Amino acid sequence: MSKRDYYEVLGVERGADQKDIKKAYRRLAQKFHPDRNPDDETSAEKFREVSEAYEVLTDSEKRAAYDQFGHAGVDGQAGAGGFGGAGAGGFSDIFGDVFGDIFGGGGARRHPNAPQRGSDLRYNLELDLEDAVSGTSVDIRVPRHVECERCDGDGAEPGSSKETCPTCAGHGQVRMQQGFFAVQQTCPTCHGSGQHIKVPCHKCHGEGRVRETRTLSVKIPAGVDTGDRIRLNAEGEAGLNGGPPGDLYVQVAIKPHAIFERDGRHLQCEVPINFVDAALGGELEVPTLDGRVKLKIPPETQTGKLFRLKGKGVKPVRGGPAGDLLCKVVVETPVKLSEEQKELLRRFQDSLEGSNSHHSPKKSNFFDGVKKFFEDMKP
Ligand SMILES: [Zn+2]
Ligand SMILES: [Zn+2]
Repeated sequence: MSKRDYYEVLGVERGADQKDIKKAYRRLAQKFHPDRNPDDETSAEKFREVSEAYEVLTDSEKRAAYDQFGHAGVDGQAGAGGFGGAGAGGFSDIFGDVFGDIFGGGGARRHPNAPQRGSDLRYNLELDLEDAVSGTSVDIRVPRHVECERCDGDGAEPGSSKETCPTCAGHGQVRMQQGFFAVQQTCPTCHGSGQHIKVPCHKCHGEGRVRETRTLSVKIPAGVDTGDRIRLNAEGEAGLNGGPPGDLYVQVAIKPHAIFERDGRHLQCEVPINFVDAALGGELEVPTLDGRVKLKIPPETQTGKLFRLKGKGVKPVRGGPAGDLLCKVVVETPVKLSEEQKELLRRFQDSLEGSNSHHSPKKSNFFDGVKKFFEDMKP
């Protein structure tokens, strides 16, 4: 079963602080608490999910690992007191089994030796805009569980055999009386497998899987955008008891670019021009992803005007024509003027005197509007 994203589970932003996470957790934990939802397995599952997300996201180390590697970063850190072992398991022993026993949910319990598909993994990949647009190939390092080669995932040292667990007689579960309840617990001897390994494999210590960081080469198709996922078949966690491995999902995010802003298949950029070119018209060099191109600016161009360069955007990964590049012209005020230049501007300004509104369409509209605004205010 693939796990949901922890942030999604709690309904918080990726950058949420501890306070927000606690708040979200308290609200959801109350809603799904088993005491409030007796004999509701969905709520029990939700409660477990919420608790797990909370435990990871409030632990700065685990959260950092999760942000980088997704569930692979925090799941089943073998022997390290990782979350899969102590946290979730502990909870399931207390609640899951008690409820299963009382409300008859126990029938749905899977056989301890049934093949189990490995977990899906997620890897967060940040890409430069250029690479995302043209496509590329990246090497990523993914920590995960893989089947132990020495014992072929069996857990027993090659040449030795397994026997039925003497404590639970192969059931994987033992019953214990605890107050009013008969509590069913995972067998402490075989940890639920129902089998007793006489000589554990030297390499995996009987687990059948080993943790390993593998370098994978991922082909990034041209045109990917933030939010796209690339699935690598069977590159997730190894399965248990001969089950198939999970998949690896590479989650793409595009880094901010110094010049271009991306909006789906379109790109946008700002192009500064001086006020003389804006007034008289001229030719500008503007950047595109595949080099500079010339852009003709007509006379009397105002700041903020958009010029569309057709087909200079991004070719979408799912097909269709390339988008456009929108160049937004920004008229710059000249700075560091000499006395002589200032004098020229004053003389220029004087030449406008009297017919000012005629030369400044926006300004005249603005002051007409202001005048009307104050006139309308008069009683
Ligand atoms: Zn046992
Ligand atoms: Zn092994």
